[in-house]
Amino acid sequence: MLCESESLSDCERKYSQTEREALGLVWACERLHPYIYGRQFTLVTDHKPLEVIYGPHSKPCARIERWVLRLQPYDFKVKHIPGKRNIADPLSRLLGETAQREKHHHGSDEYVRFVAVSATPKALTTREVEEASATDPELIEVRKAITNGRFENCKAYAAVANELCVVGYLVLRGTRIVLPRSLHAQALTLAHEGHLGIVGTKQHLRTKVWWPGMDRAAEKHCNECHGCQIVSRPDPPELLRPTPLPDGPWRTQP
Ligand SMILES: [Zn+2]
Repeated sequence: MLCESESLSDCERKYSQTEREALGLVWACERLHPYIYGRQFTLVTDHKPLEVIYGPHSKPCARIERWVLRLQPYDFKVKHIPGKRNIADPLSRLLGETAQREKHHHGSDEYVRFVAVSATPKALTTREVEEASATDPELIEVRKAITNGRFENCKAYAAVANELCVVGYLVLRGTRIVLPRSLHAQALTLAHEGHLGIVGTKQHLRTKVWWPGMDRAAEKHCNECHGCQIVSRPDPPELLRPTPLPDGPWRTQP
């Protein structure tokens, strides 16, 4: 028997009892993946409906259905044991309220850090981007605007205002880094490595970074790339060579 425990986030706390119990099983399976993957096992729960939900004939709501799909790689049976005979959650009940809150707070900070680091293009370091962002006049305005909600001095960012957030000096749009102006050229050159063409270059950029007008900048960069111009220019058409006229009927010019 394996013993693991976790407390719920504020959002998960709003789930119905059955959903919380169902999520518990998904969490446990994914957490214990190295031990249980590829072997038959029994999930013991004190919540009777889970036997049916994770059974073969279940028709759960969309949220639980997604979890059922997530558990498809595992080979398991759900067994119900009443709570009286199965002391549930001893570990999470040992954690104090504050300890739990701190843990979640810490967890979300770490996650945002992780997003920032993974959004940094490979040839740049997060520190490099952070240093450039700290002094970039446009991003200074954006950071102010994110805090006070007024985007008058950086109107180009207003449309995506609710996707923006600040981590240290870095500005993120969703899971992408908003690059300071001084690094645009470097990012374009990196994304265009291998001369991928406009579509490929844009795709490369979109995976990690963003700035207002990035697509147009990518198009301009590709159109002006010397290498691409030499390679993509079509061969000049051959000169017209008229057939010489024959001397008379039934004759051809040698
Ligand atoms: Zn090129």
